[in-house]
Amino acid sequence: MVLSLTKHNIKSFLLALKGMGVDSYVINKEDTITLLAIQRAVKGCHRCDLDKTRRNVVFGEGSNKAKVMFIGEAPGVDEDIQGRPFVGRAGKLLDQLFEHIGLRREDVYICNVLKCRPPNNRDPEESEIIACKDYLFSQIELIKPKIICTLGRHAYNTLMNVDERITKVRGIVKAFKGITLLPTYHPSFLLRNQDKIKEAWEDMEHLKQLLKG
Ligand code: URA
Repeated sequence: MVLSLTKHNIKSFLLALKGMGVDSYVINKEDTITLLAIQRAVKGCHRCDLDKTRRNVVFGEGSNKAKVMFIGEAPGVDEDIQGRPFVGRAGKLLDQLFEHIGLRREDVYICNVLKCRPPNNRDPEESEIIACKDYLFSQIELIKPKIICTLGRHAYNTLMNVDERITKVRGIVKAFKGITLLPTYHPSFLLRNQDKIKEAWEDMEHLKQLLKG
């Protein structure tokens, strides 16, 4: 995945990279910066204390040309061990949601608000979200998905800069920097609240329609 740099966006992009601690850039002949540069920065990130307890950084994975990007909260224990997003129980349920509308993991891009696991799977702290969120914003800017599907309240609240309950906002389409945003439940929440699964299926149907449009 590449981002085309123009005289209008290069300054802010390089400043954002500098803020992430990147002081050298991967610029190829076509004057582009790759997602890899951000991934390298995240691997060496020490912006918050989660660097002390993480086993692996979980940057995100999938198609760099994905039309839909799924954003979760933070890695859990399985993700921390494997360095990949949504590979535990919640991930299995997420795979079933994808299957429901004929999506494959390789068609989408999956990442989290936090790139490192909070100990004992506690909620992300505000300071951790603030430290980490421009990595997520850069991923979105580089991938340029048609639709963002936020999983749970943390991803939604981070992108929309609000503090809402997921039960209030799920299924209601919004926009993030001009990109269609569809909030749905977090798969871990669905594992604990099976009565909400029907609504999650409906959100997937809705996503399928949005992708067609
Ligand atoms: N929960 C998340 O929010 N993200 C993961 O990657 C796994 C579980």
